[in-house]
Amino acid sequence: MDGKAISKKIQIEIAQEVSQFVEQSGVTPCLAAVLVGDDPASEVYVRNKHRVCERVGIASQMHKLPVSTSEDELLALIAELNTAKDVHGILIQLPLPDNIDTLQVLDAVDPQKDVDAFHPENVGLISQGRPRFLPCTPHGVQQILDRCGIEMSGKHAVIVGRSDIVGKPMAMLLTARDSTRGPQAANATVTLCHSRTQNLAAICKSADVIIAAIGVAGFITADMVKPGAVVIDVGINRTDQGLCGDVDFEPVCEIAGHITPVPGGIGPLTVTMLMYNTLAAAKLISE
Ligand code: NDP
Repeated sequence: MDGKAISKKIQIEIAQEVSQFVEQSGVTPCLAAVLVGDDPASEVYVRNKHRVCERVGIASQMHKLPVSTSEDELLALIAELNTAKDVHGILIQLPLPDNIDTLQVLDAVDPQKDVDAFHPENVGLISQGRPRFLPCTPHGVQQILDRCGIEMSGKHAVIVGRSDIVGKPMAMLLTARDSTRGPQAANATVTLCHSRTQNLAAICKSADVIIAAIGVAGFITADMVKPGAVVIDVGINRTDQGLCGDVDFEPVCEIAGHITPVPGGIGPLTVTMLMYNTLAAAKLISE
């Protein structure tokens, strides 16, 4: 499953919608990214997000703060961005330095500009099946599954990893009654696994679709996969051999019906769905 190609296709769709929106409203959607410290991986992620913004016609701002920034200084910047008329989406690049309380900072973002869908108000709306914004990585997974013709309704999906960013919201999207792609892309029966799960290998082997979001290179091995199953690899792990996912790719490829690679799988879709949310935020504020 080629995440890069699907992502490009979605970006073309978003660019067309952005152009229509700008023409009708006179407003250019704008994403403000906040980066604290100088973590090289975070800098690469933020640069990449700006490049994709440019590609789809979304304006972007970069607020780079030194590692010595205090929590109060960061909260003051967020308060400014919350009220800035020309900013529609706010992205706080994680991880934040240890002296800053991440939850407190994420909670301070105006829920109407919370394009990562991390704010409790937005998480609550997703859990009730009436989302304002969709979480970017899980939404990207749902898009790739549906655009590859994989019907999720009634299927057994096993998600490994229960983080607030990937695993939990993924379970909410797949158990919902409907989705941005229609009911066939949701309505799954979901098993959400984590480090205390017993008989994990057997649970994975019973899955029609496995979604791995663990952060351990090669964790999902061929003996855990049912022949013909769909395997989605969300993991991004840096090893001596370069970037790799949570799935032992070559052997699992032999067994799976469909599989996403790392890199070139879910990563590009995550950034693309952030653009989708920024356009949605601009529409919301301009209503
Ligand atoms: P977290 O570290 O927040 O969560 C990892 C989850 O995996 C936890 O729920 C943990 O269980 C579970 N886990 C860890 N070890 C095991 C084990 N041995 N058996 C079963 N479950 C286990 O990670 P994230 O969700 O933030 O990220 C997961 C991966 O996805 C990372 O590699 C990250 O880089 C990548 N990622 C990729 C994105 C993309 O765009 N492609 C976006 C976001 C993340 P427990 O809760 O019990 O500790």
